[in-house]
Amino acid sequence: MQPRSAEERRAELVQLYREAESCARCPLSKTRTRVVFGAGNADADLMFVGEAPGMHEDQQGLPFVGRAGQLLNKLLEEIGLSREEVFIANVLQSRPPGNRDPQPDEIDACKPFLHRKVELIEPKVLCTLGNFSTKLLTRSQRGITSVHGKPQVHELGGRLLRVYPLFHPAAALRSTNTLEDLRADFARLPALLEEPPPVPIGAVAPVVAVAAAQPAEPTPPTLFD
Ligand code: URA
Repeated sequence: MQPRSAEERRAELVQLYREAESCARCPLSKTRTRVVFGAGNADADLMFVGEAPGMHEDQQGLPFVGRAGQLLNKLLEEIGLSREEVFIANVLQSRPPGNRDPQPDEIDACKPFLHRKVELIEPKVLCTLGNFSTKLLTRSQRGITSVHGKPQVHELGGRLLRVYPLFHPAAALRSTNTLEDLRADFARLPALLEEPPPVPIGAVAPVVAVAAAQPAEPTPPTLFD
């Protein structure tokens, strides 16, 4: 496929949003107030995928705007990032009544939207928040307690990227130990974002030329801080 510019990908994301607004692929379309498509930087290096909108998200049409969202904002701030720099989405775009767990048919109906978002945003690192998004996007039944904080390489949206499972912020609001784990996992995100893109298994890694030791160049004077 031809590489597309960030503007082209953004325009397609807006089109996908219009499609989601009128989506009736599952019964949640009858009970939701608003579709929660996701929000943030359409060309973000870092993407988060939670579970499903809650009451506040359903009313505002935005992801993670309740207490769990406030914690997510704080954890982002602590590593020098803002919400506007990342893209935040969910497995489901519509609120399950009473915040019950997403059902398999609802997940299946919404999955193509999520995969298309990943394809269009092209994140370097995708953080799954909690069990539902972790199991869906790692295509494994291994739960968040055993996989959190361990990056995995997966093909999603037609590209290889790093999936980084994290505890859901709502779980961290209920347990201090979980909050400590989540904070420690967040602290490793800046380094993960700096890593070179994953190389497909069997592909030859680019050869990095290592220059023979040379006498140090004289340091030029510093003109700007
Ligand atoms: N919990 C989620 O998983 N997603 C939201 O958007 C809000 C709370």
